[in-house]
Amino acid sequence: MFHFDNSYAQLPDRFHASVYPEPVEGPVLLKFNEALAEELGIEADLSDKARLAAVLAGNVVPPGAMPLAMAYAGHQFGNFVPQLGDGRAILLGEVIDTTGRRRDIQLKGAGPTPFSRRGDGRAALGPVLREYIVSEAMNALGIPATRALAAVATGEAVQREQVLPGAVFVRVAASHVRVGTFQFFAARGDNDGVKVLADYVIERHYPELKGASNPYLALMDAVALRQADLIARWMGVGFIHGVMNTDNMTISGETIDFGPCAFLDEYDPKKVFSSIDRMGRYAYGNQPGIGQWNMARLAECLLPLLDDDEEKAVEAANAVLKRFGERFQAQWLEVFRAKIGLQTQEDGDLDLVQGLLAAMQEAQADFTLAFRLLSHAADGSDEAFLALFPDPAKAEAWLATWRQRLEREQASPEARAAAMRSVNPAVIPRNHRVEEAIAAALQGDLSVFERLLQALEKPYEERPDFASYALPPQVEERVMQTFC
Ligand code: AMP
Ligand code: MG
Ligand code: MG
Repeated sequence: MFHFDNSYAQLPDRFHASVYPEPVEGPVLLKFNEALAEELGIEADLSDKARLAAVLAGNVVPPGAMPLAMAYAGHQFGNFVPQLGDGRAILLGEVIDTTGRRRDIQLKGAGPTPFSRRGDGRAALGPVLREYIVSEAMNALGIPATRALAAVATGEAVQREQVLPGAVFVRVAASHVRVGTFQFFAARGDNDGVKVLADYVIERHYPELKGASNPYLALMDAVALRQADLIARWMGVGFIHGVMNTDNMTISGETIDFGPCAFLDEYDPKKVFSSIDRMGRYAYGNQPGIGQWNMARLAECLLPLLDDDEEKAVEAANAVLKRFGERFQAQWLEVFRAKIGLQTQEDGDLDLVQGLLAAMQEAQADFTLAFRLLSHAADGSDEAFLALFPDPAKAEAWLATWRQRLEREQASPEARAAAMRSVNPAVIPRNHRVEEAIAAALQGDLSVFERLLQALEKPYEERPDFASYALPPQVEERVMQTFC
């Protein structure tokens, strides 16, 4: 079924532990991503669902797989844990997709590994469906993220606060190497391990850096820039990752680990949904600062490779961290310029964007709807946009300033509105819709999940059949907290 071409398994033994998935009682295929399977060059026999479910649940290990759990460490909520590792995820192997890209195929929830500690190695159905929905939604939005190949029910129960149905999630990633993977070796003083890993990720993710005068510094820089760009994109769609621990930050620049993640409804930079984020460390507005903090942890691991002279190494690393900040600011402004329909750059643009955000915050305006309706105001009426503001005076004043700014650009109203609609989504995976889909699935009804996936396929279009998915939650539908 898979044409495996495994590279991570070739790395030294201390990088991973060989481990086979633990078979489950009654695998049933809940969802299979046929389009992604095709992209991956997977030959899946859809007429034999039982066999497909058995493979994707880990009951049958396909030929060529070299199942392993990856070793990694990480800062969890700021506290360093020297050994985390894949406690419930097993990498089956890698495939080269139809565009020539190397992709990991990983089973999440496939049973215990040497890194499980007190965990059961399993995943519950709800979080599996959440990851399926949100990771596919991020991709449809055009934001780098891991992909969902399949969700499989295990026919087994898992014990959490309550007993829940179990499931396996089949995740596809550019790789699963994280900041925490580097930390695993650095924390052990294993500089050779850090170097082997750095060479591996340069080869796999940044081959263009091989010829650089200082490839490891170039790597640090490239990872920081990708993360700055990624977080700017998150901010643009109101995405809150929820657990930006260093073990949940990839070296490839893909969004990974959709635990208690959530999207903003009303705009509030302090917004936190995650039940485990009691201090608000990973609040919406803190994400760029945390991204930089995580990059500093990566830089610490790479220091011995950056320069033989420690002082010079620290100086170089600090310069990269500074560039992260500048790059984030620039990308953020680019993202929000586009969101308000600007195609040129002027000094006052930052103030203009911030003026809008301040008005939205005061009015508790829905983040997604405000920018979508502003797109319509660009070539139509202001009415719907202004209706988001209980006291519209500030929003009216802002629109007037905005229009003065727009006059200094060439674009026609129609072209500007179309450009805005291509960056301001109508449909995002709103928390109440995700919860609704999970609740129905727990009752055995997957149709709500299926329909939500369809709604999220074309987020920048307003399709009459899916109109209700663009709406914010009613008061009684509001989700206050998310759980992983
Ligand atoms: P996360 O919060 O999802 O990033 O996971 C943090 C760490 O806990 C990782 O090392 C996971 O592999 C591990 N982990 C999470 N859930 C389980 C589980 N049910 N069984 C074993 N390990 C787990
Ligand atoms: Mg994780
Ligand atoms: Mg997780």
